[in-house]
Amino acid sequence: MAEATEVPVVEEVKNCPACKKPLKKARRFYRNGAYYCNNNCFKKVNAEAKAAAAEAKAAAAGSADTAEKPVEGQ
Ligand SMILES: [Zn+2]
Repeated sequence: MAEATEVPVVEEVKNCPACKKPLKKARRFYRNGAYYCNNNCFKKVNAEAKAAAAEAKAAAAGSADTAEKPVEGQ
């Protein structure tokens, strides 16, 4: 009998970053260091992250382009 050493197991319930549903241990889907409820939700978040990165890159490139553009016609 080791009742004194028994610790209550607290299951960490996280929410899916895509659909915000709580993830239960049995149905979580691990990808790229995060848990999702399924591959579909992973793809959704991945696509959003890619789009955001592409947008940020385009914005940075665009601002750099306008900043470096020589002013003509003055
Ligand atoms: Zn989900």
